[in-house]
Amino acid sequence: MTIYPVFLANAACPQRCVYCDQTRLSGVTEIGPPRRMLENLARMLPGRGAGEVAFYGGSFTLLPADFQNALLAGAAEFVGRGRCRGIRISTHPAGLDQGHLDLLSRYPVTTVEVGCQSFDDRVLRAAGRGHTAAQSIAGLERLLAEGWQVVAQLMPGLPGADDAEAEASLRTVVAAGIRQVRIYPVVVLEGTPLADMYRRGTYRPWSVDETVDCCARLWRQCLRSGVRVIRMGLPPLDDEPVAGPWHPAFGQLVRSRLWYHALATAGCGKAAVTLAVHPDDLSDAVGYRRQNIQRLEGEGLQVRLEPDPGLERLCVRAGDNVQKIHEVEGLS
Ligand code: SF4
Repeated sequence: MTIYPVFLANAACPQRCVYCDQTRLSGVTEIGPPRRMLENLARMLPGRGAGEVAFYGGSFTLLPADFQNALLAGAAEFVGRGRCRGIRISTHPAGLDQGHLDLLSRYPVTTVEVGCQSFDDRVLRAAGRGHTAAQSIAGLERLLAEGWQVVAQLMPGLPGADDAEAEASLRTVVAAGIRQVRIYPVVVLEGTPLADMYRRGTYRPWSVDETVDCCARLWRQCLRSGVRVIRMGLPPLDDEPVAGPWHPAFGQLVRSRLWYHALATAGCGKAAVTLAVHPDDLSDAVGYRRQNIQRLEGEGLQVRLEPDPGLERLCVRAGDNVQKIHEVEGLS
């Protein structure tokens, strides 16, 4: 589905999170009046379409009510004319009280994304998030009760967090009934409090490799739980981050890490093996710059991968034996 985004950089955030520089991420330095945003949308949207208008960045439901009403009413007009099918907003867990949702429910809102980031109160405090885990859980439950699509955003690698925190936070999301997530590992951006913490030595960024391992376990958990991962890793940045696990092909690195374990398990005990995968999985199975094939060769296993369009996605076949990659236990 096509998304037509409008960025409200840092608008109405209850406080500035230590890692956040929305301006740098979105390229937006000030938010204009609703009229100007709606004019931009009018230029972006097709005559007829099934996409969503999305108000991203900032904390939408904490904006002044008249500002929200102006944007939502304008977007609703586009929906009414068939130029898109609904409205998507992203917001902060402190903006999910029933009163906030009552305002949204007057408009054709289809999807609400919530920046949960973690469900560990100690980690949330250290990140300056300005909400608790309990607030997030209650807010997610209220959103689901309203019947909207709900997306939870998670951030592995916040100050004071570890792998166990990331996995426990995902388990909380799944237990709350959420079926869509975005996973944004923390990177250190210039001009943020986190950059100061990094330079003072009070924050250690995760390496790409350890973050890929952690996210591969999260992705496996999502596949097992029927949770769709909309995105793993931050979008392209204008400037190099100061530090942290940013990589242009982060999502592929994560998918390929799970594939590596699936291939190694399927070829276990052999010197050479031919394995089949769906053609659309071939690139992830081979790995970014053939990393999986080279790593397996280095470990004494020659793998030949052949495409099989008859195979289900995310499955590997060795002879007659077909296994889903998220059923493989190889990733500790
Ligand atoms: S709530 Fe979101 S947009 Fe606002 S400062 Fe925190 S991370 Fe940035």
